[in-house]
Amino acid sequence: MIDIHSHILPGVDDGAQTVADAIAMAREAVKEGIATIIATPHYKNGKYDNEKQSIMAAVTRFNETIKQHKIPLTVLPGQEIRIHGDLQESFEKGEVLPIAGDSQYLLIEFPFDHVPRYADRLLFDLQLKGLVPVIAHPERNAEIIENPDRLYELVKKGVLTQLTAASVSGHFGKNIKKFSLQLIEANLAHFIASDAHNTTSRPFRLREAYDVIDHEFGINAVYFFQENAELLLNGQAVYREEPERIKRKKFLGLF
Ligand code: FE
Repeated sequence: MIDIHSHILPGVDDGAQTVADAIAMAREAVKEGIATIIATPHYKNGKYDNEKQSIMAAVTRFNETIKQHKIPLTVLPGQEIRIHGDLQESFEKGEVLPIAGDSQYLLIEFPFDHVPRYADRLLFDLQLKGLVPVIAHPERNAEIIENPDRLYELVKKGVLTQLTAASVSGHFGKNIKKFSLQLIEANLAHFIASDAHNTTSRPFRLREAYDVIDHEFGINAVYFFQENAELLLNGQAVYREEPERIKRKKFLGLF
C-alpha cells in the first residue's frame, strides 16, 4: 500500500519528534501494509517552513536509518503546502516539492476554518503550469463542511482531493465520518491517506479506513483509491469520476 500524506520525518514539524519516534512510525506503517510512504512536512503553515532542499536531505537520511533497522519501507519526499498568495513565487524559487519529488501533483492544505477567496484562481494558474493540486483533508475544513459546493466547484475544474483515513474511520467524530462518506459517494474524493503524526493520538488507520470503504461502497472503491495512489506515484493521470453535488435536506450542524 502507498500512503501519500504523513509526518514521519523526525524533528521537522509537529509529526515525529525524534528519530526513535520516526522509527516507531515506520514499523507501524509496515504493520499497516504500507510499503511506500510520502513524507509531507508542513510548509508555510505559519509555524513550519520546510523547503524542498531540506526535505530532500532529511528523506535521504531517514531512508538510511530505516535501512539500518531493516524496516522494509521506502520513504519518498513530499510537502504539505499551506495555500498562500505567493505560492507561485515559492514554486519559481524552487521551495515547493511535489508529491514523490518529481510528479506533477502538489499536496495543498487550506486553513482549517475557510477556503481563501484567491484559491480558485491560484489553483487554476497552477493547473495551467501542468501541476495538479491535491487538496488535503477537505472533510475537515469548516467552510467546505458548511458549503460542499465550494469543493464541488474546485473538483469540477480539475482539482483532486485526499481524505484522511481517521476521518473515514470515525476518529474525528460521527459527522466528519458521515461527511467523508458523502464526499466519496459524490465522487469528490480521489485519495485516502493517513496524515499520521505519531503512533498514539494520530496514527495511520489506513486499514480501518479501507475496511469502512469496503463495507460502505464495496471492494472496487478500495481499489479505486489504492490504484490512484499508485498512478500518482508513477506520475500518471489518476481515475476521476464525474463529480456530483452533495444533496442535503439540512445542514448537518457540525460546529
Ligand atoms: Fe498533514
